[in-house]
Amino acid sequence: VSGKFFVGGNWKLNGDKKSLGELISTLNGGKINDQTEVVCGAPSIYLDFARQKLDAKYAVSAQNCYKVAKGAFTGEISPAMIKDVGVTWVILGHSERRHVFGESDELIGQKVAHALEEGIGVIACIGEKLDEREAGITEKVVFEQTKAIANNVKDWSKVVLAYEPVWAIGTGKTATPQQAQEVHEKLRAWLKTNVSEDVAKSTRIIYGGSVTGGTCKELASQGDIDGFLVGGASLKAEFIDIINAKN
Ligand code: PGA
Repeated sequence: VSGKFFVGGNWKLNGDKKSLGELISTLNGGKINDQTEVVCGAPSIYLDFARQKLDAKYAVSAQNCYKVAKGAFTGEISPAMIKDVGVTWVILGHSERRHVFGESDELIGQKVAHALEEGIGVIACIGEKLDEREAGITEKVVFEQTKAIANNVKDWSKVVLAYEPVWAIGTGKTATPQQAQEVHEKLRAWLKTNVSEDVAKSTRIIYGGSVTGGTCKELASQGDIDGFLVGGASLKAEFIDIINAKN
């Protein structure tokens, strides 16, 4: 891929000012490969805090947002608000949003369109469940999810595609480098056929699902793995090893 290696941390619903402050101090002290783009995904209430405390070498991401700028939508936040506190990315379509909170492909597509219109970068997540993999429909599932996203993207330069098999998230069961590479390669081919050759070459396709300091190097050596989205390990100093997986 032509862009930088991309590593996102997804803190999910974890931490408080004290523990996140300590994590941020550790990250700020970490030596980071400047060929890697790093983004930390903070809970919405700590976005401002994270942006103020983290060094400029780290971008900050929201973990979700709504599909419109403002209005009577109790509990939601907008890309405009995210931008207002200096945050430049949002994670959309994460499997927990899809499967715990019931977000549809359609809603995720609308959120992607709106975030991009507002100038926020989007980490767009896709991935099959275990029963879908076992039924041999992984490709069909991830292509459908990708299509619902792609239909809403005009400018791909602000999109990172995150392949996260649901069975690998938070389970300690990382996909093998071969399993991940196989899907990434197919996704890149899908982009080439359905979007353009340029977009296929320049869009980072990152892997997520139980990535650790121990598994990251071999995964990163695969031809179509352009980075990671990291949950559990992004809350530990180990995240720095993952950021430097390409070193
Ligand atoms: P995990 O989470 O690294 O804890 O498996 C990944 C994710 O949900 O993005």
